[in-house]
Formats: sequence, structure tokens, C-alpha cells
Amino acid sequence: METKEKKDKKTDISYQRKNGWELIDDKDKKNIDGFSYDYMEFLSKSKIEREFHDNSVELLKSAGFKEISAYKSLKAGDRVYVSNYGKTLFAFVIGKNDLTSGMHIVGAHIDSPRIDIKQNPLYENTEIAYFDTHYYGGIKKYQWLTIPLSLHGVIVKKNGEKIKINIGDDDSDPVFCITDLLPHLAQSQMKKTLSEAVEGENLDIIVGSVPVNDKDAKEKVKQNILNILNEKYSITEEDFLSAELEIVPAARPREVGFDRSMILAYGHDDKVCAYTALKAMLDADKIPDYTSCLILADKEEIGSYGATGMGSNSFENATSEILNLYYGSYNELSLKRLLKNSWMLSADVNAVLDPLFPSVSEKKNSALLNYGICVTKYTGARGKGGASDANAEFVAEVRRIFDSNKVVWQTGELGKVDEGGGGTIAHYLARYGMQVVDCGVGLMSMHAPMEIASKLDIYMAYKAYLAFYNDRRK
Ligand code: MN
Ligand code: MN
Repeated sequence: METKEKKDKKTDISYQRKNGWELIDDKDKKNIDGFSYDYMEFLSKSKIEREFHDNSVELLKSAGFKEISAYKSLKAGDRVYVSNYGKTLFAFVIGKNDLTSGMHIVGAHIDSPRIDIKQNPLYENTEIAYFDTHYYGGIKKYQWLTIPLSLHGVIVKKNGEKIKINIGDDDSDPVFCITDLLPHLAQSQMKKTLSEAVEGENLDIIVGSVPVNDKDAKEKVKQNILNILNEKYSITEEDFLSAELEIVPAARPREVGFDRSMILAYGHDDKVCAYTALKAMLDADKIPDYTSCLILADKEEIGSYGATGMGSNSFENATSEILNLYYGSYNELSLKRLLKNSWMLSADVNAVLDPLFPSVSEKKNSALLNYGICVTKYTGARGKGGASDANAEFVAEVRRIFDSNKVVWQTGELGKVDEGGGGTIAHYLARYGMQVVDCGVGLMSMHAPMEIASKLDIYMAYKAYLAFYNDRRK
């Protein structure tokens, strides 16, 4: 008798993760496709941080958010955003509770690994014109060869005029490309390691090949490109000096598999968390208990440096302005309390176990595809180095919130202990003493030109962030 009871109890108390498709109800099943479709549409026109920023501002405005300068004071229910140079965006919905009781923050980043154009990019070699580049973020360089590429960004002229560039994503546009060696002549290249086979300095894109019809011109193909650019955009070669031009894959997000259960797209890292967090903020309670805050950050992929990265004081500055409008005055102690009392989900992607490369993961602690949003207690590498290790007390709160709102979720660590690692923006916010945990969608082929995410996991990220914004901290 006693033995049996013990045995029953034991099976009851074991923890077993389950595939999300076996857990969700019909309502969720129905919502997943529509949500995925909207995400794919948004992503296809938001390939770089500036575009994601601008399209987010449009959505926020249509939901009643106003730029901070439109407010003389702030009270519960007010919806406000702060733009940081058009590349980082902070949005707030003022809650019922006193502001210093803390905010519920979801923070994602909207920059993705890519290839940037150098400041003096245009050159001609053997009557072919190229743009010289410097890649951005952690990429496997060989993956970016021989695929169609598009060019996005801005050229700012000396008089301040800003020319937006977006070439290669419309079907009628030309695209760009980086060439690779034919296998017939690649004997010595094929002997090199993957990291050496393609040199960063050779990651240059072809931009033209027709010589200008001018006997006196020195580099005729380059001259022809300059003529085309001057005619179309009224720019000269010198204007590249103050340009930010980014090369990304010229491909739309696509559904993957006979069952269409996954999405293949450029920039899931971290636009998948950014989009789901943005949608959660738009769909959350009109007046939450705790002030909601959305962070869409730039420069995460290169270490969050610079004025638009989370290593800057930009978030603290924005929060100070909010505090000032809320109380009618600024008080440093109030700011410190507000930040310390805040809760944050650092919404960044993790990796799911790839069955074709199982050796880098430890299965029971790796996120799995379709098992829901992934909570990562700590990131870091080799002995948790550089990790923002979340407090167990806060992870328990997150468990409570997700479980009581039928969020399918799992925990996941990035790879085996000594295999490598990564970081997120979590530690920049943890610095204020606030509770932070990493929490996002698991990807396959992270940082590749096209990454894979599960529709179910994406939808669960949205549900998770929504539940977090609406939580009342029982
Ligand atoms: Mn990321
Ligand atoms: Mn990344």
C-alpha cells in the first residue's frame, strides 16, 4: 500500500516537456496562422532597424501613442513613445499604480547580422564595379555568397537632406550579389577552414558592368554607376561618406514544410521577439496596473555600443523624461526606485536543438522546436562568463504568469557548457537592480541569411509578452 502510493506520487511529480501542438486548444491553433501572416508581412517591409523603427511608430500612432513632446504631463492610460535617432524606440503605457512601483518591460533588438557598405565603397576591378563592405555582427561569411541581396538604408547629404534607399526587394528591382569560386577551380579554397575560405575583405558586392560611353573617362564602369546614382538620387560619390547602407538577403519570408508550420526569413534575430512584443503592447489592457514599457534596441549584434545601443544612457534618459512628466519634476531617487522595482523580459532569440547537429547541445536543457517560448535563466559562455543570471524568485514569477495564461513555454540553455555562448541586452537593464530574465523564440540556423522559426513558438512569444504586460504581481 505505502509503496504503491509512493510510486503513483512519483510519476505525478516528474517534469516532462511536451510538444506545443499537443497542448494548445483550437482557439490558439486558429490564431497561429493569422498571426504568422501578419508577422511575415511586417518583416518583409522591416528588414533593417530604421525600417522596423518607422513601421513600429506607424502601428503605435494608429493605436493612440504620441511622441513624448506632445505631452505636457503624463497620467494613467497615456500612451507615449520616445525615438532615439530613428533606430531605437521606447514605448510606454502609463499604468494605474504609482510609477515608482516599477514597470513591466519587454526589450528586444531590431538590428540583425548583415553586411554594411564602407564609407568609400565604389571601385572598379577588371571592368566590373563593386561596393566594398564591412560585415556587421557574427556571420558565417560563406553563407552570404551567391544569394540575391538587397540594399537598404540612408544617404544623408551635407545639407541634411536624407535619401532613403531600398533596392532589391521589389520584384521589378535589380539585386546585388557576392560571387564565389567555381568548384572546378576551388581545390585550394576547399582545403581551407570555413572561417578562412572567404575573407571579410573579399565580401564585396557586384553593382555593375557596363562602361560609360565617354572616351576620356578613366574607370568607365565606375563612372557609369556614378552617373546612374546621380541621375536617380542626385548624389555624388562624396555623399557615401555620410551614408548608412546595409546589405541584406533579397528574399521574402516564406512558410516552410508541407504542413507550413515554420517560417524561413531574414532577421528573426531579433525581429521575431521585437514584433511579438510590439503586438503584445498594442493588444494589452488599455490601462495596465504596472506601466508597460517596450524597448526596440539597435546595435545589439555588435555589443550594444554607441548612442543607439543599450550600453548608452538613452533608456535612462527616456525614463527620466517619463518620470518628469508623470510627477511634474525630476527626482533621482524616484528614478532609481522606478528602475529597481521594474521587471523585465529580455526578449531575444535562443537556439533550438538542430537534430542534424546534436553534438553541440545537451538535449534536456536545449530548447526544442515547437515547445513554446524559451526562458533562458542565464546566457554567457564557458562558466556563465558575462551572464545575467536571473534570480530564481523572478523565474518563479514568470512561471506563474505563463502557466496561468496557458503559454506554452520551456527553458533552454544555448549549447553545451563548453561549446560557446552568446549575450543579450539583459545585463544593461539588470545593472539598475531590476529583475531580468531572457525569454524569446528558439531558432534554427541563427545568424544565417535565412533563419527558421516555428509559428507556434512565435505565437507563444506574443502570448507570453501579453500576459507579462497584463500581470498584476499577485
Ligand atoms: Mn539577438
Ligand atoms: Mn544575434
